[in-house]
Amino acid sequence: MKAEILCVGTEILLGDIVNTNAAYLARELAAIGVPVYHQSVVGDNPGRLEAQLRDSFGRSDLVILTGGLGPTYDDLTKETAARYFGRDMVMDESSLRSIEAFFKKTGREMTDNNRKQALIPEGAVVFQNHCGTAPGLALEAGGRTAILLPGPPREMQMMYETGVRPYLERLSGQVFLSRTIHIFGMGESAVEQKLRPVISKMENPTAAPYAKTGEVQLRVTARASTSAEAARLADPAVQQLSEALGGVVYGVDVGSLQKAAVQALRERGLTAATAESCTGGLVSKRITEVPGASEVFGCGVCSYANGIKEKLLGVPHAVLEARGAVSEETAAAMAEGAARLAGADIGVSTTGIAGPGGGTAQKPVGLVYVGVWSRWHREVLRLELARGQAEEREQIRYLASSHALHALWRTALMYQKERVDETVF
Ligand code: ATP
Repeated sequence: MKAEILCVGTEILLGDIVNTNAAYLARELAAIGVPVYHQSVVGDNPGRLEAQLRDSFGRSDLVILTGGLGPTYDDLTKETAARYFGRDMVMDESSLRSIEAFFKKTGREMTDNNRKQALIPEGAVVFQNHCGTAPGLALEAGGRTAILLPGPPREMQMMYETGVRPYLERLSGQVFLSRTIHIFGMGESAVEQKLRPVISKMENPTAAPYAKTGEVQLRVTARASTSAEAARLADPAVQQLSEALGGVVYGVDVGSLQKAAVQALRERGLTAATAESCTGGLVSKRITEVPGASEVFGCGVCSYANGIKEKLLGVPHAVLEARGAVSEETAAAMAEGAARLAGADIGVSTTGIAGPGGGTAQKPVGLVYVGVWSRWHREVLRLELARGQAEEREQIRYLASSHALHALWRTALMYQKERVDETVF
């Protein structure tokens, strides 16, 4: 199967939006071993779109289109593809019902234009839109397949995962299985450099790194005729790549740092509490995003003011006077204070200078201490998180919260190794 990507939208041609849909689809198709030799962009013009479809199907058997499925006059992808395939437009009752339900749920008025979104080329396969109104479509004829997806990236990606990927499995007669290795503490280029000799030779499974803020995810995707066989191909590769990466891997298919931390606490029957200064509650927000966090999370203190650090957390006045709020000693005392306040097994703290102001030569913007306290492990990390870019405050705060979650996860893991309950502290 040879595929290509065709994005529709004058905004892309004018440079008003970046074509992230093409990048996303290219990565996804590469991961499942579908070769993509061309990408194109056309404006909202039916003549040029039809000409492009003719060109594309002259050299490829699968064309994935995004954009132009909306309800407005310039959204012409569906009609143009229908004409190209010689199909009439018919009303798809199930799409109409989903669109009506969407408008009812969001309390907005439905117009005739919205009804138009439920018109589909006769015989098309419909992909449901779980976060918008325009359904996606697949049209097949004579060995040619066109897949039409909405332009908004969130809608397009969700539809790809829930509808298109399974459809491509059926089309190719194969099962695609992906596993994600979660990496913290090593950048994307370092991961790539370390693994390039291995990854570049991999064909089935494939492996591709994805950069997230402060993290990297390495996705390993195998294809086979059954899911058991795909797992047999993927799992040894996951193990080999994880071993090559070493201690920076915090899990496989664990979702996120906060999910990994909550799971590690839950599995060991442990509880945690947080004391946050520069992150202003971000660590507790991320922990409580995880369903079931109440089993493991006692409380989060947003102790911005020194008085609160003293009063609620018991940070000694002398420590704050002598070492300052942003110091190793304060971070340690905050972590211990949070754990004692909540009666939790592990306390985690953050204190630092998120900027843009407030930095000095000794304590520059981006300096953050992350403290962790437990009966079996205590530690304070000194981090320098500024990258010299403008408006870094949010980035520094987010990275600090990630380090705190990672420290929490590691500390929970150490509990298993040491027989804490038999040790007297
Ligand atoms: P809608 O129902 O929202 O009109 P649509 O399928 O008609 O969806 P477009 O109108 O073409 O899609 O695009 C809607 C928005 O989606 C654009 O304004 C842009 O923000 C985003 N978008 C469209 N195409 C792309 C693309 N290739 N890459 C990134 N974003 C895109």
